[in-house]
Amino acid sequence: MPNLPLPARDLLYLLAAVLFIVGLKMLGSARTARRGNLLSAFAMLLAVVTALVAEHIVDWPYIIVGLIVGGVVGVVAARKVQMTAMPQMVALFNGTGGLASVLVAYSEYVVRDNRAAELTATAGTRLEAFHQALPLDVSITVVLSLLIGAVTFSGSLIAWAKLQGVMRGAPITFKGQKYLNGLLLAACLGLLVAFVFMPNWQLFLLIVIAVALILGVTSVIPIGGADMPVVIALLNSYSGLAAAATGFVLHNMVLIVSGALVGASGIILTQLMCVAMNRSLANVLFAAVGTDDGGGAGGVDRPAVTGYTPEDVAIILDGAQSVVIVPGYGLAVAQAQHVLHDVAQSLIKRGIKVRYAIHPVAGRMPGHMNVLLAEANVSYDLLLEMDEINDDFPETDVAMVIGANDVVNPAARTKKDSPLYGMPILNVDQAHTVMIFKRSLAAGFAGEGNDLFYDPKTMMIFGDAKKTITELSRILKG
Ligand code: NDP
Repeated sequence: MPNLPLPARDLLYLLAAVLFIVGLKMLGSARTARRGNLLSAFAMLLAVVTALVAEHIVDWPYIIVGLIVGGVVGVVAARKVQMTAMPQMVALFNGTGGLASVLVAYSEYVVRDNRAAELTATAGTRLEAFHQALPLDVSITVVLSLLIGAVTFSGSLIAWAKLQGVMRGAPITFKGQKYLNGLLLAACLGLLVAFVFMPNWQLFLLIVIAVALILGVTSVIPIGGADMPVVIALLNSYSGLAAAATGFVLHNMVLIVSGALVGASGIILTQLMCVAMNRSLANVLFAAVGTDDGGGAGGVDRPAVTGYTPEDVAIILDGAQSVVIVPGYGLAVAQAQHVLHDVAQSLIKRGIKVRYAIHPVAGRMPGHMNVLLAEANVSYDLLLEMDEINDDFPETDVAMVIGANDVVNPAARTKKDSPLYGMPILNVDQAHTVMIFKRSLAAGFAGEGNDLFYDPKTMMIFGDAKKTITELSRILKG
């Protein structure tokens, strides 16, 4: 296979980088997101093929086998994994990205170690040969790749295990945890400095990997409950930084650019989620907020709650003029988006004003509800952000809450010791009637009981949302 001339390689890398940026920009709107995703995937293919042809790194059979295995795993994962399990899948992808950075950086060290052995005769001393084979920029970025990559790998596995229910989702804390994390980080940075002076000591690198793997675990276990998706966005950013550091090790421009883009977009996403929950990143990382015990009423005496039927709902909707639908995570679990769209269409046909209120952290990832409703062909014009619709609730006849809980929980306004305290919520409690479709009185993701279920103006419609909404649709059509 002939090598690509360098200007052609650099131009193709530049083209891939530009396509990444355009693709990312297109992800900003639901209308263009699908094309943006395709464009970015094409840019990645272009970058990979260019790197393979231009750099001639390994034998072709290995590359082809790797492409096939990776491609098959990616396609199967993307097709099989449920939308609700997307954060776990992203966690695994981040983890493998981190692991790849560790492997690439370490193997580059091995290559340079061999080069140093060849240089020893001319360089005088073995250490001098290593300094020539591993200049300062390379030795620093090798250690950074290993450090960030290994933290990302083990941290992502813990995040995956927590979300998948393989381990307890609640924060796991112990005395002196923050000091231990600080100590582990300081040890890694100390090893980085030592390695710069003594790049011939391969053992330093192995210790960095081991310490960073422990750091990944100890920094993610104290995070729990509803904060996990934020951590996954942060780990996504780390995986980008690790890739960018590896790009410096290899002097590969497109890897530096794409890693920096992932690093920047991951941190922006993290920040957006924190703002939507009205929390600081430090609070998410260190406050050990959240439970996995299902929350519930928290020992408070509550009045008995009456369960209503879809027939009761249809009667109330008959007299309504304006309805706001609030989708949440349970809608995604039930996969009730299509039948909900049918209900909305029936109401619109009856002359009722119907809109959807989208909370920025409804579901388990940013834009989750938009994607879900887009799947059911709900018109974008009917989707309103929280700030656009919140003032309209006092004039709304019915707020239909479908599988949402935390994003409408008034404890966020009033209960100071609640993990939700301070998070802006959708003001559904100000509507004339509130209908909540869920299976039980159980708490939401943050583990906080919800007083709204016991409000006299609230109608609880218990059952799987797909079942109850399908029944409602049948009645409305009949
Ligand atoms: P919640 O997780 O608070 O509540 C979902 C509710 O859906 C549950 O209480 C559950 O109650 C119900 N449910 C589950 N399955 C079904 C079903 N088959 N049919 C009917 N109901 C069902 O969801 P929200 O969307 O209100 O809140 C999202 C949470 O995720 C917030 O805490 C947010 O902070 C957090 N989060 C979200 C992020 C994002 O980007 N979207 C990022 C970070 C955190 P029951 O079991 O009784 O049915």
